[in-house]
Amino acid sequence: MIGDREKSAVCLQCLECCRYVSFSLPLAGDLKIYEEFCRVRDLELVAVKKGVVYIRVEKHCKYLTVAGCRIYDQRPMACRMYDGRKDAAMADKCMWKEIE
Ligand code: SF4
Ligand code: SF4
Repeated sequence: MIGDREKSAVCLQCLECCRYVSFSLPLAGDLKIYEEFCRVRDLELVAVKKGVVYIRVEKHCKYLTVAGCRIYDQRPMACRMYDGRKDAAMADKCMWKEIE
């Protein structure tokens, strides 16, 4: 298992969760309704698992630069805690899955 320093180094090569916002909705009805919603709102329906629809949209964080996070040492706790491998809307993009 790799440590936090190595994980941070991988994140700086990736930065995908700084480029996307992901969310999920309970699947209540025909999946076509969700597909249409995503199409008209320009969202990406990534997965449907166990009655939950996982969606993402490209929305760059205002602190993201070409060199990475402008406030990395003071980044929010949500950024520190986030693990893209556990987010079904982002797991395909998260580079941590390739190192552990
Ligand atoms: S604050 Fe930094 S680490 Fe958090 S999403 Fe923005 S650029 Fe990424
Ligand atoms: S998607 Fe994963 S590897 Fe990429 S920056 Fe986010 S947590 Fe790090």
